[in-house]
Amino acid sequence: MAEIVRNLRIAGPTPLPLPVLAALQRPMVPHRGQWFREFVRNLLRRLRELHRTDGDVFVLPGTGSAGWEIAVVNLLHPGDRVLLLVNGDFGERWRRVAERYGVDVVVREIPYGQAVRPDHVAESLGQTPGIRAVFLVYNETSTGVLNPLSEIAAIVRDAGALLAVDGVSAIAGCPFEMDAWGVDLVFSGSQKAWMCPPGLVIVGVGPRAWDAVEGAGFPRAFWDLREYRAAARTGDLPSTAPISLIYALEAAVGMIEEEGLERVWNRHRELAGWFRAATGSVGFRCFAEAGFESPTVTALVPPEGIDPETLVARLERRYGIAVNGGQGRLKGKIIRVGHMGWVERVDLEVVYAALVRELTDAREGRWD
Ligand code: PLP
Repeated sequence: MAEIVRNLRIAGPTPLPLPVLAALQRPMVPHRGQWFREFVRNLLRRLRELHRTDGDVFVLPGTGSAGWEIAVVNLLHPGDRVLLLVNGDFGERWRRVAERYGVDVVVREIPYGQAVRPDHVAESLGQTPGIRAVFLVYNETSTGVLNPLSEIAAIVRDAGALLAVDGVSAIAGCPFEMDAWGVDLVFSGSQKAWMCPPGLVIVGVGPRAWDAVEGAGFPRAFWDLREYRAAARTGDLPSTAPISLIYALEAAVGMIEEEGLERVWNRHRELAGWFRAATGSVGFRCFAEAGFESPTVTALVPPEGIDPETLVARLERRYGIAVNGGQGRLKGKIIRVGHMGWVERVDLEVVYAALVRELTDAREGRWD
């Protein structure tokens, strides 16, 4: 049976705009041919602009999770000490990856729903000597919190540590200035604000990160950033390029350029603000601390007596609207609505209308 979702409002994969869908239909070409190499070089240049960096940006076959491993094996030695700021399930998962590699992970856990504050970072860096790198999830997709990255980056820089950022659900939807803020390594996923299918991890690497990459002590093969750098000079990837996904990303980049990156950021922020206000007016509580709400995903605690998991199931069954429930320790406590990439106000008005109808039905005893 075909799955019918009329309104895909999960926190990625996101709906594919028509230019992206069309790009996915393009024929294959030799991935090491002159034409495709030029295409890739051009795309990487435009991605550098969208990351606001003069450093490098690469497109790798993989998903967001690969970014956690890429950061570990390329920046560190076994036993290096890393400060991992955890305020949600994705930070927690990054921690597990780093621990498996034998990294000495110092975890600073901030209650879920709250933001990591610059003070937390300064305090942890002050208390624990020898921190080589700080790992932070910019936009915690599991809680709908956007951490104040620019301020945190300044603290990390002053302390002389490296900063690696999980920007999986942030980049292209939330403000991001790689060079001005001093982020050393960042990764994002094609299926989020980039409006593409899953399958690409987009990695930005700054000059300080390169010094670390040269001296890192882990064996690396597929995720060796040096190989991506060498290949990128000629517009190549070390392995066969995921051609269709690269076409799709190029189309999405074109759309972002046409709208204007800052307008894209503003659209996300405004839509998120509208959705929070609307749902707040009918009794949903935004799970994220005020002032740190994500522009790309909103986590909501339903009013008393409304079970989040039932609500998620009913939205899909009755209206073809797919949203997420909570994950990890937030399972059964919240719902999460994604609004990243190709999204307009009307898409969220539909979700809002369905939520209102469900609240009414539940209260009038029509939920069974
Ligand atoms: N990091 C964040 C912040 C995410 O939101 C996700 C996925 O939702 C991941 C990492 C993992 O990405 P993937 O599922 O593409 O491997």
